[in-house]
Parts: sequence; structure tokens; C-alpha cells
Amino acid sequence: MKKIPLVIATGNAHKAKEIAAILPEWCEVHTLKEYPDAPEAAETGRTFAENAKQKAECLSAYLPEALVIADDSGLCVDALNGYPGVISARYAGEHGDDMANNRKLLRELAAMPGEQPHTARFVCVISLAQGGKELGSFPGVVEGSITLNPRGTNGFGYDPLFIPTGYKVTTAEMRPQDKDAISHRGRALAGLTAFLSAMEE
Ligand code: IMP
Repeated sequence: MKKIPLVIATGNAHKAKEIAAILPEWCEVHTLKEYPDAPEAAETGRTFAENAKQKAECLSAYLPEALVIADDSGLCVDALNGYPGVISARYAGEHGDDMANNRKLLRELAAMPGEQPHTARFVCVISLAQGGKELGSFPGVVEGSITLNPRGTNGFGYDPLFIPTGYKVTTAEMRPQDKDAISHRGRALAGLTAFLSAMEE
């Protein structure tokens, strides 16, 4: 199959690494590092899908020839009415401070009566855009629960706190390829991959 060039609209190196590892070898992955002057999207949406679309459309308006993908993702905890959700990256205030975000989540859940373990899910929406317009939107979800005892050093973000349903380990304890096989991101990217294959036929 002919290589399809894709630009990933994310400044999050962990996400970019996972996306590049998950996509098939016929995707030629480019990152924002190649476009240091690219504009940053507003990310004002109330849903993962809206934010992913904003990010993909913003970069693809700047790179009108390119196929651009964006990932918006986060952790939704039932006992917190779906929070941190779309504010997962800046739950504790500062964008991308994973340690502070995890500490805040543990604090909030520890103070919470109710059933344990707390059920939660990781959600990811991948948006594909070209010429400033979204071509497709691909969701992925992995169900699980939150452990109050963080474990593992792989992955990023809330991985040390998240145990996927059917597993005893956190996603930070899983090998990267095992996380990718069941993750919200892996599932969303499977939808994108099917769409791209059909586009090429
Ligand atoms: P975004 O960059 O606005 O989409 O926010 C993504 C945030 O959600 C990350 O900074 C993490 O806090 C969290 N998150 C998303 N995907 C994962 C994952 O695979 N593992 C752990 N945390 C994740």
C-alpha cells in the first residue's frame, strides 16, 4: 500500500509516541516538531469530539495540503460525574502536570464515600481533517476502575491509577504494546485506519 503522510496535531510527546506506534506502517507520521510556527487551537469545546475537531481543523487550515489528525482524550470517573473529562490535562491547574493531576484525583476520591473501586473510563476521539475541514471523527473507550495505590512507570497521565476491566494491573504496569491493543487510543485509531484504507481503495 502507498504511504499516506499524516501530521499529528499534538504537542504531547507521549500521545505522539503512542499514536505513531499504533498506526500501521503505511502511515508516514509527521509531528508538530516539524512545524514550530503552527498555531495552537483554542480547545474550547465541551466534548472530546469538539476539541479533537478544533485541533485537527486548526492545523489543517495552516497546512492545507496535509492530512492532519488530532487526539482529544481524558479520564472520566463516574463518582466525579465524569470529571476530569475534557479538563484531564489541567485538572489540578497547570496544563500537563501529571503528578499534580493524579494527586488531586486521589485526594478527591479518598474523601468520597461510596462504592470502591471507583468505575472510570479512558475516552479518546481522533479527528481527521484536511483543508481546515473535518473528514471524520473516531471514538475509542476503555472501561476500568481507579486504584488509590498508584502503580507502574510506563505510559503517562493517569496510567498509574487506571486498571482496565478484566486486568489486575494498571495501564502504567502494562507493556506499551499491550496497553495499545486495548486502549481508548488504540480503539479510536482502529476506526481511523479503517477509514484511511477505504479512502485509498
Ligand atoms: P488533551 O491533551 O486535552 O487531550 O488531554 C489529555 C489528558 O488526558 C492527558 O494529559 C492525560 O492527563 C489524560 N490522558 C489521555 N490519554 C491518556 C492515557 O492514555 N493514559 C493516561 N492519561 C491519559
